[in-house]
Amino acid sequence: MALPELDTPQATAPAPAPARAVGRTRATTLPEVRWAALAALAFLAAFPLDLAGAPGWAWGPLYAVCYAAGGWEPALAGLRALRERSLDVDLLMVVAALGAAAIGQYLDGGLLIVIFAVSGALEALATRRTADSVRGLLDLTPATAVRLTGVGGGAREETVEATALRPGDTVLVRPGERIPADGTVLGGTSDVDRASITGEPLPAPAAPGDEVFAGSLNGTGALRVRVDKDPGDFVVARIVALVEEAGATKAPTQLFVEKIEQRYSVGVVVATLALFGLPVAFGADLTEALLRAMTFMIVASPCAVVLATMPPLLSAIATAGRHGVLVKSAVVMERLGAVDRVALDKTGTLTEGTPRVTAVRGEETALALAAAAELPSEHPLARAVVAEARARGLRLPEATDFAAEPGRGVRAVVDGHEVRVHRASGTHGDTAVEVVVDGARAAVLEFSDRLREAAPGAVAALGRLTGTTPTLLTGDNAGAAARIAAETGIDDVRAGLLPHEKAEAVREWERAGAKVLLVGDGVNDAPALAAAHAGVAMGRAGSDLALETADVVVVHDELGAIPAVVALSRRARRLVVQNLVIAGVCIGALVVWDLAGHLPLPLGVAGHEGSTVLVGLNGLRLLRDAAWRRAAGGTA
Ligand code: ADP
Ligand code: MG
Repeated sequence: MALPELDTPQATAPAPAPARAVGRTRATTLPEVRWAALAALAFLAAFPLDLAGAPGWAWGPLYAVCYAAGGWEPALAGLRALRERSLDVDLLMVVAALGAAAIGQYLDGGLLIVIFAVSGALEALATRRTADSVRGLLDLTPATAVRLTGVGGGAREETVEATALRPGDTVLVRPGERIPADGTVLGGTSDVDRASITGEPLPAPAAPGDEVFAGSLNGTGALRVRVDKDPGDFVVARIVALVEEAGATKAPTQLFVEKIEQRYSVGVVVATLALFGLPVAFGADLTEALLRAMTFMIVASPCAVVLATMPPLLSAIATAGRHGVLVKSAVVMERLGAVDRVALDKTGTLTEGTPRVTAVRGEETALALAAAAELPSEHPLARAVVAEARARGLRLPEATDFAAEPGRGVRAVVDGHEVRVHRASGTHGDTAVEVVVDGARAAVLEFSDRLREAAPGAVAALGRLTGTTPTLLTGDNAGAAARIAAETGIDDVRAGLLPHEKAEAVREWERAGAKVLLVGDGVNDAPALAAAHAGVAMGRAGSDLALETADVVVVHDELGAIPAVVALSRRARRLVVQNLVIAGVCIGALVVWDLAGHLPLPLGVAGHEGSTVLVGLNGLRLLRDAAWRRAAGGTA
């Protein structure tokens, strides 16, 4: 049976251009659905004639149409698979139907073909709906944009393809329009509804300086927006590309199932031949033996087992993606639910990562030197130092020989001085750094950073999910760490850690048998993200390295989404188990019935295909928004 894998054309293209106008697929546009309908109609026409005792020339051709319409595709696919020495269960179904026809059981064979084709069509439809629901995200971005050229009163408007936008362009977004690009507001104020991307229900105010995203709905104001990214890098495009990539990787359970499936299918064929050959050799009735053997082959086929694993995981990935959580693969979606210990970084993760300088203890010239040295750094503290120096109107001299030591600080040569800005020794109640000029301490800068509003709730929810209170792992000083820990309800704090020490802490837990979920944002978190069972990066505050290394990206830094995605993963894992049980029980029961008693062929077919469809649809339940709400609600 085909797996609901998402097609991956966009994931392999270098810069996926957003596809458009791919709404929900209409059932009748799928070839599988049309062929199944033809097979069913032909069967419905032939069946009454056959039963009423009409001559063979009346119903025979109709049955032939039914067999051909419903069977050619799986037969062809099955033969192709056979050429590559792999046994496709679809082929077994077709062989069974032809076998039935060969012994004059045209009706049973036709019924098998029809049910088989219809369930195949349902499966194809479900697969398409999964892909549609992800691609539908791209539909949210408008196809065209109004680009402004020139400035002030002389600005001209021109309508361009949204895919032609480039960083640096300015676009005009009128009231009620969707925003065509990821960018920064230059002028105007409005409310922007990002619900389609983040699931956040309330529109947020947007004013100059604020970030906006393609696909968000503009409220009542008009906005001038500077485009910051290429269309292929817009958040929605990244979500779609990542989800599609995820669909191409297989979860370990799935790989295991597929390995077993091959041997199992061969076993089924051998058993079928034995079941037919042995009784016949001992003089049993040929037709009866053939029927029983074929019924066995159908009900023992592992279609439902094959379909047990990937649909729940892929559905969960799509749903998480719609709510701003990018899970990079099915492997990760399967892993997330297994975590039993959580560690969080402080700056940029629990806090907003936009610290401000609250005190400069020392000369202003030291602040200017520090800012010059910090200018090339990506660290949130660096940005705060630069902002403070600029706010005070200080001139920033040129810096050379810049070097960063992640988790510790930076150094550079400024105006002929060797300048270091790094972690302050001693304890401070707040985050503090020392400015050392030519080996002598010249100033201490103190910072405050706001705690994210969602932090205490997310920490509590993660604690409930895993049964252990999360740990704080930070490179900051013990005083500042203790304060943030107290405010978020964490009692296990490890402060003053260098990047490799964070990773070591994670490895130590893993060695002790724990499965660690690490949440971080910085370059200094990358080693720990890589060492963890599952690594989560904050999408907005996060450095590129953290985003690359992490298995999961929380696009808009919503901490609350992390426990939700863990809960969703657990639900997906439960569905996988449930599906495997349903499949196993159905196969077992039907096989026993066929061997020990007399299982009519049509009933065997119905039971087999019914359980396959049931299992497929069961997994797709996680596509619904209700699944996310339940995951988020159960933990909030
Ligand atoms: P966290 O682990 O909480 O995210 P980091 O590991 O990024 O914090 O930083 C740890 C400490 O190292 C900071 O509190 C700061 O004292 C110092 N530090 C790191 N990078 C810089 C920098 N660019 N400028 C100044 N100090 C820095
Ligand atoms: Mg950090």
